[in-house]
Amino acid sequence: MKNFKRYLVTSALPYANGPIHIGHLAGVYVPSDIYTRYLRMRGADVISVCGSDEHGVPITLRARIEGVSPQVIVDRYHKINEKAFREFGISFDIYSRTSNKVHYETASEFFRTLYDRGEFTEKTTEQYYDEEAGCFLADRYIMGTCPYCGNENAYGDQCEKCGTSLSPNELINPHSTISGCKPVLRETLHWYLPLDKYEPWLKKWILEDHTDWKVNVYGQCKSWLDQGLQPRAVSRDLDWGIPVPVEGVKGKVLYVWFDAPIGYISATKELTPEWEKYWKDSDTKMVHFIGKDNIVFHCIIFPAMLNAEGSFILPESVPANEFLNLENDKISTSRNWAVWLHEYLEEFPGKQDVLRYSLCASAPETKDNDFTWKDFQARNNNELVAILGNFVNRTLVLTNNYYEGKVPERGKTDQNDAAVLNEIGKIRENVENSLEAFRFREALREAMNLARLGNKYLADAEPWKVIKNDPERVKTIMNIALQITANITIICEPFLPFSMEKLRGWINISEKSWSKAGNTDLLTAGHLIRKPGLLFEKIEDEEISRQVDKLLATKKANEEAISKTLPGKEPVTFDDFSKIDIRTATILEAEKIPKTTKLLKLKIDTGLDIRTIVSGIAEHYDPEKIIGKQISIVANLEPRKIKGIESKGMILMAEDKDGKLVMVAPAETVTNGSMIK
Ligand SMILES: [Zn+2]
Repeated sequence: MKNFKRYLVTSALPYANGPIHIGHLAGVYVPSDIYTRYLRMRGADVISVCGSDEHGVPITLRARIEGVSPQVIVDRYHKINEKAFREFGISFDIYSRTSNKVHYETASEFFRTLYDRGEFTEKTTEQYYDEEAGCFLADRYIMGTCPYCGNENAYGDQCEKCGTSLSPNELINPHSTISGCKPVLRETLHWYLPLDKYEPWLKKWILEDHTDWKVNVYGQCKSWLDQGLQPRAVSRDLDWGIPVPVEGVKGKVLYVWFDAPIGYISATKELTPEWEKYWKDSDTKMVHFIGKDNIVFHCIIFPAMLNAEGSFILPESVPANEFLNLENDKISTSRNWAVWLHEYLEEFPGKQDVLRYSLCASAPETKDNDFTWKDFQARNNNELVAILGNFVNRTLVLTNNYYEGKVPERGKTDQNDAAVLNEIGKIRENVENSLEAFRFREALREAMNLARLGNKYLADAEPWKVIKNDPERVKTIMNIALQITANITIICEPFLPFSMEKLRGWINISEKSWSKAGNTDLLTAGHLIRKPGLLFEKIEDEEISRQVDKLLATKKANEEAISKTLPGKEPVTFDDFSKIDIRTATILEAEKIPKTTKLLKLKIDTGLDIRTIVSGIAEHYDPEKIIGKQISIVANLEPRKIKGIESKGMILMAEDKDGKLVMVAPAETVTNGSMIK
């Protein structure tokens, strides 16, 4: 393994369109902070950079909803998130923002270098344009009817009802959400990064040279590379962002995925005039902490950009995590299904370490994981209070009672004493190995083993009994328990910085360099310790019920919002109604359409003919089980091509408030082709 002279730790830039929640913390910021604190304790030259990502369509959308400028939105959330991170002890060296001047300059210069060197390809495409508002429309600004499920409020990039990703030209009756008018297609010029050109290089760099990456990260990269890379646009028609720095170009900005990772470089520039040694010297180890949704940007696109530019180093590791769920449901900002950091800090004052601990202990390192308030309470009461707090408290209280707070002399040690003292060094080594391999859950479990070791030692040695007959022996026991305590303050520091600061105060030391961990004489005989308080407090059921109730209220509100029976439609004439040809039919064949999750291709006997209908019911019906079923169809709907298959007609389905689809069939079997009227 290469020995690096310094470290550059980056953490994914959170979007400044909402507050930070526990999913962000468990996935990115808690592990990155543990790693950085550990490196600092080792005396490494390390900087940790982060900041708000202040560009992109979600921010302009939020601004439009609230009727304010995007700047108001980013100012608000930058402030909230910067403060929440700081109070939670996430110790960035800088928390910058991509609306800063230095970032505009850095990103523009980066683009310009690649542009001047002819690294981009130019392409004219047709995109939707709002003639009334006078601007091109980002996918999210176009709404229309989903061709798969009929949802009339589908977005140009996705139908949130059936989950299908869409492109705006698939929408039926598209309209602009800005002016409400029907958008027209207009030609527009954009610049593309030809990722296909970097594919052979990326294949070698990742698939051959970085087999050490986490399995989930390596696997996702491999699947992208196996599919083959396509050129990706680096610009967008938008009025919020960094203007494309090309003479005569107006109304175009850098696409947010291009500008955001350059934010790491700008933040470093803002932090130190020596920024180049962190970015341009191959003796620097760069580590990107991110969530799994960012893997492609940090492992494929950003490295391709850095490689094209040529003067920057590449990440050495990208320890991306999977997702954290909350009470068995996906965390969602729009559904308010989250535990927000700024609210937690208000509702659980002084308990930063409890959340840091429980998020690290159940971090989604290899697969998605779940956060529950019950688990949070159990982690606190059964582990922090019962194991760590209990050991420290017994040790400090007994030392105060027996020796008025003076560390006693360690006399003759027996075999068990020696084994315990020896174990401290082993635990340090295990924690180190786990941290260096980005296995934070394992590292935390090992660190807690130090407290487990201490508890077991005291339980076996029983100083409170021995004190009656052999007070000399008790001095040795308490000395060893105190050495374990002092080691805890170092080894647990990266995970629990607030509590360890307190504990160092009680045992009256300030030493926290990692190299001292494992030392069995951290506290010398005669050293005076102070009276301890409680390191952790029990969390009562009521506090947990309050949080669970808060979530239940959110869930209820969400359900009510969805379950409202859809409003009645406008009246139609009988003539209009009778234009629709609704008939009974029977399913003859059914199969799933490959590479889709929702679509079935059905062969139908309509009584008129045998025809194909594509239907978005694959998540509701098993193809084998519907063959032979009689159904109702709209027979005269204009044919449509769906995934290259011509679909003639539509199957009638009833949809309930949970989105469940049920076939509408005659109550008894009738001849195929019978009119429904
Ligand atoms: Zn849909």
